[in-house]
Parts: sequence; structure tokens; C-alpha cells
Amino acid sequence: MDYLPLHFNLRAAPVLLVGGGVIAERKANLLMEAGARLTVVAPECQFELPEASGPHHWIARGFETSDVSGMRLVVAATNDLAVNQKVSIAAQAQAIPVNVVDQPDLSTVIFPAIVNRSPVLMSVGTGGGSPVLTRLLRQQLEALVPDTMVRVAKYLTSRRPRLKSFYPDIDVRRKAAETFMAGPGIGYAERDAWSVADDYLFSDLGASRGEVYLVGAGPGDPDLLTLRALQLMQKADVILYDNLVSPKILDRARRDADRVYVGKRGGLASTSQLSINEQLVLLARQGRRVVRLKGGDPFVFGRGGEELEALVKAQIPFQVVPGITAASGCAAYAGIPLTHRDYAQSVRFVTGHPKNQQVDLPWREFISEGQTLVFYMGLGGLAEICAQLIRHGKAVDTPVAVISKGTTPESVLVKGNLETTPGLVARAQLSSPTLTIVGEVINAPSAQVALQQIHD
Ligand code: SAH
Repeated sequence: MDYLPLHFNLRAAPVLLVGGGVIAERKANLLMEAGARLTVVAPECQFELPEASGPHHWIARGFETSDVSGMRLVVAATNDLAVNQKVSIAAQAQAIPVNVVDQPDLSTVIFPAIVNRSPVLMSVGTGGGSPVLTRLLRQQLEALVPDTMVRVAKYLTSRRPRLKSFYPDIDVRRKAAETFMAGPGIGYAERDAWSVADDYLFSDLGASRGEVYLVGAGPGDPDLLTLRALQLMQKADVILYDNLVSPKILDRARRDADRVYVGKRGGLASTSQLSINEQLVLLARQGRRVVRLKGGDPFVFGRGGEELEALVKAQIPFQVVPGITAASGCAAYAGIPLTHRDYAQSVRFVTGHPKNQQVDLPWREFISEGQTLVFYMGLGGLAEICAQLIRHGKAVDTPVAVISKGTTPESVLVKGNLETTPGLVARAQLSSPTLTIVGEVINAPSAQVALQQIHD
């Protein structure tokens, strides 16, 4: 290890910054954010030093060796090598930590890249070797650590004194905090519900009660999972999923989580809704963290509401994580804007599931201009949907796009109009799931570049 990372307390500490250009300004902002009192030495200074965070001052001249006296930290950010060297030598002569921007050989300390979610701070460094790699790693950390961690950190900081008196034994205290972090309690801290979080932190509730996360898995492409979905999938003890959730998505879940298939195939209820609800309650009562993973968004034709009712009745804590619904995902990947100032001012999500060969819907409302219709579960009822729209007066040449397995590499798009599409789709032998979009937006220029089109 070439460097020891330390988090430096600079509150009200005198810090010397040599230089007045753009790079010096960046360092000045960072140092002021850490509460330092800045002395800037530079013949010219391009930036202001706000009084509010001060007192700071600017000395308008070149650097002199005596400037470093009494400083807690010295930073050189000039583009003059001789000046930088002089600053470095002067600081080191007095054993003051010194950083020369982009010159690790002249520095005794290096600014790491930081992820700042105060009070959570993470620093990444490559010993000054590769600032680009450092920044890349920082970005990955940013994506990995949820913003909600800040709230948890604030909550736990505020509860420190009470934790100490409640659990005087340090081992018991650590165990209690670990149980809290692994259980539902942390979810309440993330949502700033401090008093409910207290119920978990200051009792053994956390260990005995599970929680259910109703999570939207998006339309197929695993990269369309939300960060929140990934975080909860990483925390899960057990995952209940159905057939819209692909193996590639399940791959992203915690390795030792149990995976339970509760799908419904071909309209046949292989697992009844009642039994899914019962399983959710049962598993949570066993103290397990259950992810109920659903295709798309759990609240769009997902029966998420019904599953929550069962949880509410059984007083099981739950969280809902939205997902990208099939309409958004399929349309985006096909370049079809669901609304567009020139073609459609509203969009309607409709279930096209036929009951007794009939699709019973308010057809008259569907024929008015300026709207996009998106039919979910529509393949079985496609011919009927097109016929009904024509019968109720929608123009025969209204464009229709049918997308199979949207957002996945197997995605196929069939494009036609109300008259031609059913035949084209039958010939293309599309596999489910498929989504049908009806409306002028399909003619938008961006949609012309969609892959694998079959034209009429
Ligand atoms: N909750 C889901 C919808 C569940 S209903 C969501 O928000 O997307 C199931 C229907 O969604 C399917 O019959 C199909 O119409 C549509 N669907 C889901 N994923 C799809 C995909 N990748 N491509 C096309 N249609 C899809």
C-alpha cells in the first residue's frame, strides 16, 4: 500500500491554495465544502471566495516560502512547474501535507475521487497513477450505493447514544445493528420513518419479521432493471417470479436466494393467485425477505394491488418498486414515441385479453384522433381488436405495430394497418409476449429505423 487513506477534518483549519485558475477553483470549492479557511495566493484570481463560508482571503501576488507557515494543508494548482516545486519544498520543509495537482511526485497527499453522500463518504484513488480509472471506479460506486444510504447513515448517527445505553454490551450492540441492517427496519430508515425504524432497532422484531418487496423487473432486457430492483434482489432470501421474468434477469439476484416459479402459462393458472398471496404471507412470517418479481411494472396489469391487499391484511411490511412497463420499453426500443406533439396527445394502456372470444372494451372512446392505444395481452384478440376499431369508425389505414419479446435480442416487430396487421402477424408466427400499438405515432421518423421490420 503506497498511501494510507484518511478522512481529513479541515473544519476551520487554515489551508493555503496557490493558484487562481479553473483547477484552483475546483480545489477551492472542495476545500470550502470541507469547512477550511482558505488563503489563496495568486497574482490573479478568476473566482470569488464567498464570505458566508469564510473567512477566506486572497493575496494578490506570487507565492513566497513563508506563506506555508501555520497551514494545516497546502495545495498548489498553478501551471508553472517552478512555482509548484517551490510550494512543495516549502511545505515539506515544515512537515505540512502538500498536494500539487496532477503531480504525485511533488505531493505527500493526493486528492482521491469521492462519492459524497455526507455523512457517507467514499474515496477512490489509484495513487495518482490514473485519474481516468479513478473516475470510472467512482462512477461505478455511485451507481452501486443507493442515495437512501445517506438517510440510513443520518438515522444511525442520531441513534448512536441511545444504542449505546440500550445495548451496553458492544457485541450485542453490533449484532442488533447487523440484524437491523439485514431486515425490514433499514427500509424505514431509508424512507425517513424514524419511529417505525426504532421499533426494529430497539427490539428483536427485525429478526422475527420478514418483508415482501413487490418489484417490477421491466420488460425483458436485464439492463432495464432499476437500481432499487437490483439492490432488493441482492438482499432477497427468496424470489417468487413468473414467466415474464427471464433467466437473465434472475441471474442478477443474490446467488443463494431460493427461486420459486409461480407463473401462469397460456392463460391457465398453474399457480393460483390465492396460493401466491398465501405463499407471500407464509414466507414473510418465517422472517424471510421475499422479492415478488413481476414483469414490467407491478401495478400495470400485474395484479400487484391484489397481492398487497393480502399483505396488508396479514400486517406484513412491504415495499413496491416500479418497473419499466412493456409499453414504455417496447416503444422506446422500437423508436415509437408514445406521445408526440404532431400525432398523439394522450396514450392509453388497455388490456386486450379476450373473454369468451370477445374483447369487451369502450371502443367508441378509442376512435377519437390524437391518441395512442397500447394493447397488452392482445395477440389472441388481435383480429377482433382491429375489426372492432374499424367497425366503430377508426380509419382502416391507421398504423399498427405488433412487438414480440420487446427489448430482448429476439425482439420482432410487425408493422401494418388495421386491415393488414392480423394477417401479417399470423404469417410471422410471433411468440409471446406481444404488445400491440395503434396510432399515428408509428409513422414518426424515429420509428422508421426500428430493426427487423416486416412491411405490408
Ligand atoms: N406488468 C406488466 C404487464 C403484465 S401483462 C408490464 O407492466 O409490462 C402481460 C402482457 O404484457 C403481455 O401479454 C404483453 O402484452 C405485455 N408484455 C410484457 N413484456 C413484454 C415484452 N417484452 N414484449 C412485448 N410485450 C410484453
